[in-house]
Amino acid sequence: MVDYLHSRIAAARRVMSSTAGLIGSDYTTEEQAWEMLEGLFSPFAHALTATAITITACYNWYSHNSLASFAAVAVVGPTLLLRLLLNRRFRMRGPDARVSNWIRLFAIMSFIAALGWGSSLSILIFTTQGLPLLAVFALICAPVQGASARAYAMPSVVILHITIVLGLVGIATTVFGIAVAIPFCTLYWLYQISFVMELVALRRKMLKNDYDRRRLLTQVTHYNTNLASLNTQLSAFALTDGLTGVGNRRDFDSKLERCLKCQASGDTALALLLIDVDHFKRFNDTYGHLIGDQCLKLVATAIRSVASRSGDFVARYGGEEFAAVLPVVDAANALMMAERIRRAVEMMDLSGLPKLDERPTVSIGVGVAVSGTKTLPHTLIEIADNALYTAKQSGRNCVRQGVPTRQTLRHLA
Ligand code: GH3
Ligand code: MG
Ligand code: MG
Repeated sequence: MVDYLHSRIAAARRVMSSTAGLIGSDYTTEEQAWEMLEGLFSPFAHALTATAITITACYNWYSHNSLASFAAVAVVGPTLLLRLLLNRRFRMRGPDARVSNWIRLFAIMSFIAALGWGSSLSILIFTTQGLPLLAVFALICAPVQGASARAYAMPSVVILHITIVLGLVGIATTVFGIAVAIPFCTLYWLYQISFVMELVALRRKMLKNDYDRRRLLTQVTHYNTNLASLNTQLSAFALTDGLTGVGNRRDFDSKLERCLKCQASGDTALALLLIDVDHFKRFNDTYGHLIGDQCLKLVATAIRSVASRSGDFVARYGGEEFAAVLPVVDAANALMMAERIRRAVEMMDLSGLPKLDERPTVSIGVGVAVSGTKTLPHTLIEIADNALYTAKQSGRNCVRQGVPTRQTLRHLA
């Protein structure tokens, strides 16, 4: 028994020390704190008890012609009014209101209310005669029970409130000569304390679970954001050529198909340039593959410096071959762009490479999907590839345009 009491007292201490202000302040959000305060400030239970006290006073006046009970109404009236005013002020609080200020205000209000209820009920005990006294005892339970029911939010303040009310009532009954009420008050007080502790433990558990859920949700959101950005990086990697940084073959295939579909439904032409580094095998054999790699990077940069308008797209087609997909006005425009690329490669800055006997050059084959036609990707590649072959045959370091034939182009009209 002693052990049980010790354990209960220790549990009570734990609860009280961790709930000095609003319960679970270490877990709650500001929004939850305001919600709890809203419940605490609700004047409903007080209004009901004040009405019951007034009815008892009226009954005493009616049946015993005694006005003394109205002293209880005179005490509880201002208490209720203060409560109502404070509740109104709480509801009209500004956006810069601080939770801590309202917690303090509630604690003060609760203390005043406890004195109000305690003394008002004590007056009723002194002034009520006969059977209605029993009703007064029942009435005592109302504010006490109302307070305990809201103890989940601010247990320490509520326990103080209950203690004051029951303490004052206990003193009143003893003075009135019903000392037997003291053990009842004490038992009722103990019952309320254990009720409050249960409520507090449950509420803390609920708040902790809610806190854990929110923390997990934040973590999941964080991981999801990371995952999304990693996925973006991954898909960029999957479409990028590791050596030169331009698009890879997969990117080229899908973008060419997409560009041709758009071109078929619009009124512009689309040029495909196949760009092949001249005598690159010889270059590798002479300077080594590492220098060859450096050279490929420079060629890619040179191509990109020209094919840099929005809608232009450069990819590594394979080995030392690049492809540029360019929206153009017409075939002449496409040839001009190809010539600019050829010159850009010829003139590229080679200061990062060892001294070379001859400058790297490219041959370019141009294929054009003219406006008003529907061209398939492999058809356009074939046209550009044939043109590239012609450029190689023509002595390299030059641009040649592929000729569209009836077999390769199927007119929409
Ligand atoms: P042509 O002017 O007819 O195109 O002659 P070419 O020597 O450039 O053509 P060929 O197809 O005979 O040789 C292509 C060379 O490109 C062979 C290969 O070693 C080299 N190559 C392909 N990919 C890479 C690469 O990633 N790095 C380096 N350093 N060389 C590469
Ligand atoms: Mg080649
Ligand atoms: Mg080559």
